Amino acid sequence: MTAYPTLRQPRSVERLIVGQAVTDGAGVKINRVLSQGLQRRLDPFLMLDAFRSDDPNDYIAGFPDHPHRGFETVTYLVAGRLRHRDSAGHEGLLQSGGVQWMTAGRGVVHSEMPEQEDGVMEGFQLWLNLPARDKMTAPGYRDIPAAEIPGYVSAEGVTVRVIAGESHGVAGAVRRPVTEPLYLDLDLPAGSRFAQALAPGHNAFVYVYRGALAIAGERVAERRLAVLANEPQADGVALEAAAPARALLIAGRPLGEPIVQYGPFVMNTEEEIRAALDDFRDGRLA
Ligand code: FE
Repeated sequence: MTAYPTLRQPRSVERLIVGQAVTDGAGVKINRVLSQGLQRRLDPFLMLDAFRSDDPNDYIAGFPDHPHRGFETVTYLVAGRLRHRDSAGHEGLLQSGGVQWMTAGRGVVHSEMPEQEDGVMEGFQLWLNLPARDKMTAPGYRDIPAAEIPGYVSAEGVTVRVIAGESHGVAGAVRRPVTEPLYLDLDLPAGSRFAQALAPGHNAFVYVYRGALAIAGERVAERRLAVLANEPQADGVALEAAAPARALLIAGRPLGEPIVQYGPFVMNTEEEIRAALDDFRDGRLA
């Protein structure tokens, strides 16, 4: 049990973002809540896609072979089964509650395909940038099944799953240098509160995927992303749930480096993007 910590000053909500309905892969319906226009503001995070459907037509086509270079993809499956295969020889089955943390580094070609033909498919894919010096690192891959994701239940009954970073003394499944990402999945019962310390310089956001929350008095509705202000005196974020709610709390240290994206490649310069396209075309990513 963890007591409700006292914050000196909680962060306020700077902006509320409504996602865009997009179709990606071979026809998967997605709510893109963090898109290119927010990459600078939410540095080191490049993208957050949310998906949830009980209609197989919305997801069954999956994401056949496609490349990535220059960042990490973090896929968190709330419900469903997703098979991953990549050109570095990694294969894994992501199941309900599990996380796949893939470092694309200098490049992989991979597929992400649903292994269910009915039922609900729900989850998120977050793109986390790599520092310039690590963009051409060797590809890496980790499957973290639900049972291996650390968590706790707070004194107020909030179930916290610590995917990355640290929360109330509980170390997450993943720790990353430089960007020090925090990635929490929160399940808040009616009438509960949750507070989390955050370094003022770290960019942070909350995505509400079930129910609604109040953050520093501001209501954040379902399927809204709240960008948290970086007030220099603020020491964390405080959430209140009047009714049951589920949300992701994500934060990290900005890299402050140039971001040049072309589809699945995110580098620092146009020249590096051209090199990525050449390498992909000539089969050097596989
Ligand atoms: Fe991918």
